[in-house]
Amino acid sequence: MIKKCDHPGCTKAGVCRAPKTRDLKEYWMFCKEHAAEYNKNWNYYANMTPDEIEEDWERQTFGKSRSKNTKQDQADYIKFLNDFISGRDTFDKMPAKKSLPSETVAAFKTLELPITASWREIGAKYRALAKKYHPDSAGSKSGNAEKFAKISSAYQHLKRYFAK
Ligand SMILES: [Zn+2]
Repeated sequence: MIKKCDHPGCTKAGVCRAPKTRDLKEYWMFCKEHAAEYNKNWNYYANMTPDEIEEDWERQTFGKSRSKNTKQDQADYIKFLNDFISGRDTFDKMPAKKSLPSETVAAFKTLELPITASWREIGAKYRALAKKYHPDSAGSKSGNAEKFAKISSAYQHLKRYFAK
């Protein structure tokens, strides 16, 4: 019997094997499209150090690397990236919780996402919104800086929430 593609929501047949973890002991089964997407991201980040990933990510999001965060922020972020790379299953299969903390619900709302959004969806949306409202790209129109700060803090909150 052919399994369905492991990508959330996909109903195609899972015909391509993709490693879940760096030790290659576990595999996802994806349809061709999702395998290609997954491998693209996997290969892209697999050869980078956490620092390089962070820099790359910031370059993509803000057009340049920001000044260095505090050490603790960096450590948290590196842990988050490692978790993301090695344990996507936990991010993609967040249990539907009955009552989310109101701060978490608000954070989803700020990012214009349903509370069922996966971590990947949150990341993608955050990058799009951050780019849109970042003072460097949005200009100094009133409200942009506030909106950007709100989006950033919502994202930081969800990052902590998903990293638990
Ligand atoms: Zn698929």
